Amino acid sequence: MSDQTNAMVSEVEHILDSIVYELERQAITQDMLLRLQPLLVTQAANVKQLKDVFVYGAGGTLQTSSRPIRGDDPAAGEEDFFAFHRSNPSERMRIGTAWRIRPSEPWVIPLSRRFNDAAGHFEGVVLATVEVDHVLRLMQRFEIGQQGALGIFLDSGELLVRRPYVVSDLGKSFAATVLHEEMSRHRSGRMTMRSPVDQVLRRISYEHVEDQPLKVTVALSEEELLTEWRHATYSQTAIVLALCVLTAIGGSFLLRAIRHRGRVEAYLFEARDGLHRANGRLEHLAQHDALTELPNRRCFDDYLHRTIAQSLRSRQPVALVMVDVDHFKRYNDRYGHPAGDRCLRAVADALRTTVSRPTDLVARYGGEEFAVILPATDLAGATTVAECIRQAVLDLGLEHLDNFTKRVTVSVGISIQCAEKSTLNASKLLQDADLALYRAKNSGRNRVHIYSADIDPHNVKLPSSV
Ligand code: GH3
Ligand code: MG
Ligand code: MG
Repeated sequence: MSDQTNAMVSEVEHILDSIVYELERQAITQDMLLRLQPLLVTQAANVKQLKDVFVYGAGGTLQTSSRPIRGDDPAAGEEDFFAFHRSNPSERMRIGTAWRIRPSEPWVIPLSRRFNDAAGHFEGVVLATVEVDHVLRLMQRFEIGQQGALGIFLDSGELLVRRPYVVSDLGKSFAATVLHEEMSRHRSGRMTMRSPVDQVLRRISYEHVEDQPLKVTVALSEEELLTEWRHATYSQTAIVLALCVLTAIGGSFLLRAIRHRGRVEAYLFEARDGLHRANGRLEHLAQHDALTELPNRRCFDDYLHRTIAQSLRSRQPVALVMVDVDHFKRYNDRYGHPAGDRCLRAVADALRTTVSRPTDLVARYGGEEFAVILPATDLAGATTVAECIRQAVLDLGLEHLDNFTKRVTVSVGISIQCAEKSTLNASKLLQDADLALYRAKNSGRNRVHIYSADIDPHNVKLPSSV
């Protein structure tokens, strides 16, 4: 705005300077004025913003002009610009507020200069006019929204031209406004204020036009700026919100998936533990007897084979003790099968508590028969264990009226084998123990009998109760 205004005014000033130069260079005669007229016509035709050029004599009468002289052309003696130059020796161009030569003519901005005679006395005024419409057309090129405003002011505070254009605003003085005060303090600047013309709140940028006594203002409506800002903010907020929603949805899916995974993992761990427990139970069931909870026959066979293999490596003897409840068939017959079961459990408990070494194994061999594996145990040790078993069962004090002691008793057979013997094997050991048991039965029950190929059983010293 400032640059355009400067270019527009400076060009006219330059034309005024050249005309004044012509007028002051020579005496003003009718001839000279006739020669000058075509120059004025050319200037007015060639320079867009220039409407007309007038040359007034010292008395204010029109001497010549860029347009044909009519007899009724008004004199300028009473006009402000003329009076100014007549009383003011300054040779600078003066810019006046909008003005009309006659009411029927368009509004123009008068730009004028005084010219002097050879002695330096006032000889007249050259006036160049710029149509207000032309300035308005320049102003139309700026994009300032519906509520924006552009203004060109004189330094003295009077309005030259303003967009939006209201004819009654032309020439109004704004000297007493805050904006004018602000503009007189700074070359350029910004401020927000309510327009004294139409009360619209605007952001105003102002600047002094270089080399000219003019200021320009560009004012944009605060409301429109905010509307634009609001639109941008709303759309950005909408985008951000949409992203938030998407993130939240994605996040919740992710969280759900993580939680689901956690639940599945927990479930799998639980299932695995359950499987371990079930396997443990199955293993226990496979290895143990349901009635007495003692290791069963299968477990006994495994352990016996392992013990024999170990004994062969460590060259240690293995002892096997077979225990059989005496006249148990009669017990069942007299006391009933359930009582028989309870009796077997009691005998099993007695065996379990009697045999205490961790490597020893008490098993239910079958029916009312029990077997005890005693690894790395010599005959004396095995005999002591066997006798303890016999005594423990007797000490249970379980009534058995069909047994000759009137109590539940067991007969015990022991077999023992040394690792040196190549004959050391499970079936031989069992066979021997069986045989020993058979002998214990035959020799009166409730006693311990020993079988060993190496030992003469008759030489074994047994406890006195046997
Ligand atoms: P012996 O003194 O010669 O050993 O005579 P016995 O009656 O004890 O021997 P026999 O082999 O003739 O009888 C064993 C009985 O044990 C037969 C069977 O009914 C009983 N029996 C075997 N297993 C069980 C069991 O699990 N529960 C009960 N209640 N009785 C059983
Ligand atoms: Mg039996
Ligand atoms: Mg029996």
